[in-house]
Amino acid sequence: MSQAVSPEMRLLILGGIPIAQIAKRLGVTGREVSEARRLMGMDPMRQHTTGTMEDAYWARTRPAEGGHLLWIGPRNESGCPILPYRRGRYSALRVAFRVHYGREPSGVVRAACDVPKCVAGRCLDDAAARRRTREQLAAVLGMDHSRKVCPEGHLYAETAVYRTNGQRECRVCCAQRAAAAKAVAA
Ligand SMILES: [Zn+2]
Ligand SMILES: [Zn+2]
Repeated sequence: MSQAVSPEMRLLILGGIPIAQIAKRLGVTGREVSEARRLMGMDPMRQHTTGTMEDAYWARTRPAEGGHLLWIGPRNESGCPILPYRRGRYSALRVAFRVHYGREPSGVVRAACDVPKCVAGRCLDDAAARRRTREQLAAVLGMDHSRKVCPEGHLYAETAVYRTNGQRECRVCCAQRAAAAKAVAA
């Protein structure tokens, strides 16, 4: 994972520290900081601070009953809430997630509540959170997920997929089975 952004870099970027200062502090080039910003889903060059982007996000929300927060800003063609900020367009769900949890979401961010248009940070979860929930569910249901490798020897730590019912499967084996079925059908 040479693509990973170091925790220090992440903190400085989310803290709104200017690119040149981050570069100096970490002994890296400005390009590397820009690349890290890009990997974090942020505009590579602009010196956004989370504060001002956060303001833009709050300005397009309206509190609703029960602690939900409705999006009154624009949406894209697929209906996803979009936060226009300076000259960029950002996923309001990802910004909301960042504001609430203080970290970049992993994978797709979804609202876990049933309130349409809700973009409250506490109602959102990402792939990591959904995975944790399913792991907890599996534990509660007494499913044994203690084995570290699948029957074919793939490491579950890297390949595990959790179904909504808590069942665990190996992603690599599933893909191979699907490919084999396709080959037979062809
Ligand atoms: Zn909600
Ligand atoms: Zn496998």
